[in-house]
Amino acid sequence: MTHRQVTIIGTGPAGLTAALYAGRANLTPLVIEGIEKGGQLMLTTAVDNYPGFRDGIMGPDLMEEMRVQAGRFGADFVEGDVTALDLSQRPFRVSVGKTEFFTDALILATGASAKWLELGVDKQLSGKGVSTCATCDGFFFRGRDIAVVGGGDTAMEETIYLSKLAKTVTVIHRRDSLRASKVMQDKAMSMPNVRFLWNSEVVDIKDPAQNMVTGLVVRNVLTGSLTDLAVDGVFIAIGHIPNTRLVAGQLDLDAGGYIVTHDGSRTSVPGVFAAGDVQDHIYRQAVTAAGSGCMAAIDAERFLSGVALETPSVGSLADAHP
Ligand code: NDP
Repeated sequence: MTHRQVTIIGTGPAGLTAALYAGRANLTPLVIEGIEKGGQLMLTTAVDNYPGFRDGIMGPDLMEEMRVQAGRFGADFVEGDVTALDLSQRPFRVSVGKTEFFTDALILATGASAKWLELGVDKQLSGKGVSTCATCDGFFFRGRDIAVVGGGDTAMEETIYLSKLAKTVTVIHRRDSLRASKVMQDKAMSMPNVRFLWNSEVVDIKDPAQNMVTGLVVRNVLTGSLTDLAVDGVFIAIGHIPNTRLVAGQLDLDAGGYIVTHDGSRTSVPGVFAAGDVQDHIYRQAVTAAGSGCMAAIDAERFLSGVALETPSVGSLADAHP
């Protein structure tokens, strides 16, 4: 049986900062990487708002730095995705396929994933003209006509990025005003090849029969009228959903499915802590995720100090330092 004092699930800024702090506290954390190793920053280009990098840093480079730094202090990385969690008793059981790990404290840093339109066809044509990541896929649409769906900061960021590659970008938003910050709105609107379709939603994507995107069917939500829009690609930027499937029914979640935390990073189950976007739908920044990862590691360390006095943990702690 592999038994650890601390196990961290997720390797975005929250998970890796938790790993750094837990490592430096001599807790030899086990870090389960997940299928989206490095989290959402792996899908970005330049990060200019992470303090300490005066000229900015590329998202994947930042994550690599964090990973190596955590490894320097004893974090142990396990490839793979957690398939089941049992939080009903301590030590908690973490399954990665057929491999099981037991842990006295658990830090959940599983992040959030991009939302889809739920048309069916959007996922079907994913990678064939439908994308949720402009920096990953924008290159394929150089000189083409494309659309971006959404009215938040992500949609504007994608629009600005794509406008430099594509021939035209049509932003399709379901209301007549944007949710995005003023500075992002202004920048997107100043791009000469960007136009906005207001009060509009995508109701169909053509053409699954050709296995590629050839156009969209857009409905005006005020009049109900349908319009065909010829595009070669569509970027969906309508927000994110927290990756909490594994803990649903085991931890308190809010209405949006985010893990509810209190007193720092504590969840409704003692010994389980949460950090980063999985518990934060407001700030969602690399630096806030990193800060909350630090909090989670400190909270876990304090919890373990208390537990060691009150409740002898099941299994041998010696196993925690293989
Ligand atoms: P948001 O939740 O802020 O915006 C989502 C947008 O998508 C909204 O305009 C929403 O419409 C629209 N939307 C949601 N669901 C649907 C749907 N089913 N069909 C059509 N449209 C839909 O998400 P973001 O990802 O844009 O931003 C999340 C957070 O990250 C925000 O706090 C943002 O400020 C931050 N962020 C900051 C950046 C920066 O500062 N550089 C860059 C990117 C994100 P409606 O407005 O009608 O609700």
